[in-house]
Parts: sequence; C-alpha cells; structure tokens
Amino acid sequence: MGRGLISDEIIDQIRDRVDIADIVSQHVSMTKAGQNLKGRCPFHLDKTPSFTVSPSKQIFHCFGCGAGGSVFTFLTRITGASFPEVVRDLGRKVGVEIQETTGSGLQTAQLARIEQVNQAAAAWFQKHLQSEKTGEPARRYLAERGIHEATIARFQIGSAQAEWDGLVTALTAQGMAEIDLVAAGLVVARDQAGGGSRKGSTGFYDRFRARVMFPITDLRKRIVGFGGRTLGDGTPKYLNSPDTALFRKGRTLFALDQARDEIARTKTAIVVEGYFDTIALHQAGVTHTVATLGTALTPEHIQVLRRFAVNVVLLFDPDAAGVRAALRGLDLFVNSGLGVKVITLPSGDDPDTFVRREGPGAFARLEELAPSLLDYALDHSMKKAEAGSLESRIRSVDEVLRILQKSGHPIEREERIRVVAERLGINQSRLIERYPALLIQQKKRVAAPRNQTNQGSSFPNFKGLAEERDLVLLLLHGKLSPADIRRLRPELFTVTACRKLVHFALAHLDRDGRIGVRPLLDAAVDDPECGALATELSLRDDHFDDVPAHIKACLECLDRKRAEQELRDRIAQLKAAEREGRVEDARALNVQVNELRMKKAGMPAAGVVSLVKE
Ligand SMILES: [Zn+2]
Repeated sequence: MGRGLISDEIIDQIRDRVDIADIVSQHVSMTKAGQNLKGRCPFHLDKTPSFTVSPSKQIFHCFGCGAGGSVFTFLTRITGASFPEVVRDLGRKVGVEIQETTGSGLQTAQLARIEQVNQAAAAWFQKHLQSEKTGEPARRYLAERGIHEATIARFQIGSAQAEWDGLVTALTAQGMAEIDLVAAGLVVARDQAGGGSRKGSTGFYDRFRARVMFPITDLRKRIVGFGGRTLGDGTPKYLNSPDTALFRKGRTLFALDQARDEIARTKTAIVVEGYFDTIALHQAGVTHTVATLGTALTPEHIQVLRRFAVNVVLLFDPDAAGVRAALRGLDLFVNSGLGVKVITLPSGDDPDTFVRREGPGAFARLEELAPSLLDYALDHSMKKAEAGSLESRIRSVDEVLRILQKSGHPIEREERIRVVAERLGINQSRLIERYPALLIQQKKRVAAPRNQTNQGSSFPNFKGLAEERDLVLLLLHGKLSPADIRRLRPELFTVTACRKLVHFALAHLDRDGRIGVRPLLDAAVDDPECGALATELSLRDDHFDDVPAHIKACLECLDRKRAEQELRDRIAQLKAAEREGRVEDARALNVQVNELRMKKAGMPAAGVVSLVKE
C-alpha cells in the first residue's frame, strides 16, 4: 500500500492513539461476539455478519469477501481516500503532526483547495444570514418554517445575497483563485452561460443568489457542496452544487454525518427527499434521517446505507410520482439485504408539518406500522385495477411480479405470490404461468445456499498447502517456539503471501528468538500481498489437538516437500549436463542427486560416493 512519504514511526504513533473498534463502528453497525465485534460487511453484499473486528489485535477481516487490514486499510476502502490522506486525516484528529510533502499529488491538492473554498463560502453564507440587513429575508423564512437558532447552527445554514458577484468578490479578496471557485461549482464563468459581460463586473458570477444555503458535508465532515432554496420566485426552487471532484450527488446523502450514530444505534435509516424535511425531523429528535439530493436513490446510496443500517424507511408522497419512486426503489432494493418500509403521511402533510404538529412519538408509530416497500408497491398497483377484469388485475401487478422474480429469497417470494394471488382472487399457478421465472429460479436456488456455507467454513482463497497455512496461522497466534521459528525458511513456502509473512516474522525476532505477534501484525496487515491473509489467519480460531506435534509435522512436511523439489531440480540439471556433455558438472550433480536420495530415504549422507555409478 502506498504510504506516500509518511514514516512508519508516524504511522505507528497514530495507530497507537486510535481504536479500530471506534472507527469501524462509525461506519458499520457492530455487535459484540466474544472478544470480537461482528457486523455486516460494508464491502460486499453480506447477508450474514461476516465482518469481524478484533479490538485486541486492532484488525478487521471479512470472512465473506476476504477484505482485511488495519484501521488505515479500513478507512481507505470505506472513504475512497488514499493511504496518505487517511493517515493525515486520522493524525489531525489525534494530534499527530504530519509534515506536508510535495509528493501529495495534484488530485489531492485540488480536492484540498475545493474543500477550502467550500469552507470559506459556508462561512460567508453564515455571516450573511446573521447580518442584520442582508440576512433578514432568509431569517424570516427560516422562522416561518419553524427552524430554531440551534438547528441553524448545527446545520451551518446560511444565506446567499441577491447580488451577482458577492461571493466571487469576497472569496477572491481572501486570496482564492477564480478557477478554484469554478472547480467547486460556486461560481460560473459568464461566457460559459452565454451571457454578455456586464459593465464593471468580473468574468464570473455567483451560482447561488437570494437563497437559503445548506452546506452538504461528507462522512469526514468536509463541506463537499451546497444546496440552496430560493427566497423569492427564482427557479429552480432548489438548486444544488454541480458534481465536482469532491462532490457526487448520486452517492451523497444529506446529513448522513449527523445521522450516522443514530442510524447505527437503531440500525434504521429514514430517507426523505428534501433539506427542510431532514432538518425538521432532526430538530424534532428523529435524528436517523437523511435525504437524497434532488436525485432518485442510486445503487451507490444503497451501498452507503448498508454500511450502517439493516432497515431503511422511505418517505414518499402518496401520489403517482411517489408510487413510481416506490417501484424504482423496489428494483434497487431487491437482494440488497436491507429491509425496506414505506411511510405515507396523511394527505396534505409533509414530514415537517407532521412532526411539528404530532411530535416525534407519532412519527415513531408511523415508522412501526409502515408496510414493506413490496406490500406498498403491490397495494398501489392492485388498487388501480381492483375493479377491472381478471386480466387487467393481473396486468396491474406485472411490474411488481417482474421485480419479485429477481428476489433471491425464495421464501419471501413464495409468500408474496401467495399474497398477490389472494388479493387478485386467483390461483397462484395463474401467476406462475405468467412468470415462469418465479418457479424456475426457485428450483435453481436450492443448491446455492449449501455452496455458500462451504465457502464460509473453508479457505476459499487459499491455494497453497494446508501445512504452510497452518504454520503461518500458528505463527500469528504466537504458538511457535524459538526452535520452531529457527526452522522457518521463507523459501519453504509456495504461496507468495505466506512467504512474505514469514519474511516479516523473521524481521521481528526479539532477543530470545521469539516473535512479537502485535508488531508483526502491525507490519503485515497493510501489505497488499499478505495483509488479508494475515488478518484472516489471525482471526481464525482453528483448534489443533496437539499444537507442538502439529507444528512439528507441518515443518517436516515442508522440509520433505522442499527436499523433493530440490531433488527434482538437481535431476533436471543433471540430465541437461549429460545431454550437453558437461562431464565435470554431471559428475558433481550426480553426487548431489545421490546425497538427496539418501537423505530422502532416511540414510546418512556419508559414504554415498561409493554408491555412485562410474
Ligand atoms: Zn466482505
């Protein structure tokens, strides 16, 4: 893993000050399992909790997909940041200073500039909201929507003034480059918009004018973009930052950083559609709420939600668009492993008005009674055609059945077919006739689960000898004596990852010839070649009846394999020497081959010379 120019010493210092369990729990919902923590893996579609964190070893490993490593590895994978970025970020949090280097890369530098520009813009918007004169319309609007001062502060809400170049003028005066303001999506070049240049103005104008401004933060609390609600008749009503190097609407959820802890605690995320709905629910104490940013839910959103939540509650408008959204959601969520429910509010209400009038308790009851997304979609589809002919009734659920046949849960599927058939007043076989895949897939699935359990209990990824695997496992569990360790030679191991681990181990011998398991793990877990094997073997609790005997047997086996290989090599060399008429070489090789043969047969090597054919 590219460590950039950060020294191992600094990396160790940071590692010592953080706890992987805390860090992982901020991203994944974990429960205690003996000495370890277990949860559903954020890196693959995990139906059982395969993801394990060991607080004592400060490592994680997923027994489903094989991902493993240290807190740094975890953060690089979950945030998409580079190793040096992650180290720097963590270092900043725990007070370990890291010298900035020139080698940090253009991309990193640009991201940092956009982040800085966004930060400055957020401060500028907040200052404006608080300003007696310019902030008045926005403050009045927020008051009308019932947003409290504390909430305004918590969400860093601000306002953009009506003029065309207030922000661009203010930020360039602070020394920021126009090109960075454009990269951050905060300003637009005039010619880009096709408009003529106005007299006395710069070539850029502010994207957000006369709006209430909501900074959008990522899980690292960086301001990545903005959303703005118009204060007048301006269109569109809601305007978001465009996608930038730092911001992608399709994978960002508004308020996720603030909702994360409560989502992890309740294992449930409420997904709404707007800034005000989110903020109103948070203000009312329903803090496990996030919002999409003017886009429909994407598979990337669902990946993000799966890191923290087991259940997702969607809030849809009960109109035609809401039903379409529900069906789209159904398609997305099928096989996601997430339980999805739909809350429908009384007509005329939005989350904001509802929770203000009825309180968070009423909202929790709605959440509890909410139907599953599938039932919701079925209900709406069937309502449309309940009075029609049989054919039209079946047609009305076509869309749902099409999605249903993709479900990987045979029991759920069967149950739904039963429900649909009942509601349509027809026989289940009529539905299966129409969607033969509903049946065929079910048959195909029978064998699948058995495969999966096999994979979980064996070593799906290990290609080498069981003996070398067990030796490395016992090594990582501190079971090898100094005498055993002296017999370890990296070249005995055929699998690259094992060989590398043994190399690391021999580099960590202490004065007594023992190996410190923690320093070894710390050194090995971030290694791209052997990190995942190290975490996997380290977290396995395989039982061996007689550990010393097993170690002895494994070492002997490896020695034997090694000797066999050496013998094969020498015989090949001998044949080549004979073929090429190199008499002296052949004679010497012949001696070696005989020695190896005697050794293999368990006879002393002395006296072999006399056995050599002249
Ligand atoms: Zn996994």
